[in-house]
Amino acid sequence: MRAWVVDRPGPVEREPLTFVERPAPVPGPGELLVHVRACGVCRTDLHVAEGDLPVRRPGVTPGHEVVGVVAGIGGGVSGWASGDRAGVAWLRRTDGTCRYCVRGAENLCPASEYTGWDADGGYAEYTTVPAAFAYRLPEAVDDVALAPLLCAGIIGYRALLRTSLPPGGRLGLYGFGGSAHLCAQVALAQGATVHVLTRDEASRGLALQLGCSSAGGAYDAPPEPLDGAILFAPAGDLVPVALRALDRGGVLAVAGIHLSDVPALRYESELFYEKELRSVTSNTRENGREFLDLAARYGVRATTHPYPLSEAQRALGDLKAGRFDGAAVLVNDL
Ligand SMILES: [Zn+2]
Ligand SMILES: [Zn+2]
Repeated sequence: MRAWVVDRPGPVEREPLTFVERPAPVPGPGELLVHVRACGVCRTDLHVAEGDLPVRRPGVTPGHEVVGVVAGIGGGVSGWASGDRAGVAWLRRTDGTCRYCVRGAENLCPASEYTGWDADGGYAEYTTVPAAFAYRLPEAVDDVALAPLLCAGIIGYRALLRTSLPPGGRLGLYGFGGSAHLCAQVALAQGATVHVLTRDEASRGLALQLGCSSAGGAYDAPPEPLDGAILFAPAGDLVPVALRALDRGGVLAVAGIHLSDVPALRYESELFYEKELRSVTSNTRENGREFLDLAARYGVRATTHPYPLSEAQRALGDLKAGRFDGAAVLVNDL
């Protein structure tokens, strides 16, 4: 099979990925072999390629928004059959026994492993996944439209939960890429008022099209105080900006896995009146299943830009340069 590997983590302009030919993986006990049909391009893939995240598996194949078809089944797997549609996402494995797992916070498991970081992911013709962490997918949605839901969508949904937004609340979204535009659709369907704050003009247009109430610059003040806000842009200097935009009791959730340094905060204007700053770490499988159900019910649709699998490096470059709104998706055309 053909697969992309991160040979030399570094700036994407210097082409850190190589497209190699290698044998297709063999599913281990408890695993599925998945023929990749489409794989979304997530900002985390860019962090893996550029070395912002430490190397966990040298020469790893990135990609953790995989829509595919079961092509092989390892020992001890039940409930899956060859030809079933399957989704592969970021959370790949947990121990199931630690203090976090047993209280339902498997996203915090210290032994957790991640697709496309600890193990080879979906920038390839085939990948494997532990069957217990594979998602069933709705039949009605096509491969490309479904792929971004598997990380961008699920993480955006967990970030929304982390804001504890009250019913009918006012939500601010800082940055409006793949994750935010899916999160916005869920929040709007649930009756929130959504304000988007982003430097990217094309994304502001998309935000208004989707039904958001306003779309301004990243450092602008929203037109009204916010009950909740989510920081999707990986820019730590937006943390105090977003905290100042919160109403009393408001919550800011930082959605990214990587954030530049947060400047010193002013207690009076940025934290007092019980404002809260929260991070978002990965997701639980329950978040994933719940989001995929809601997405089907609300008709959540990703705005997608397909690229052939062979052009993964160009897709990452375009993501970094902000050359598209919504989400890039690699299509296995091999
Ligand atoms: Zn655990
Ligand atoms: Zn991701």
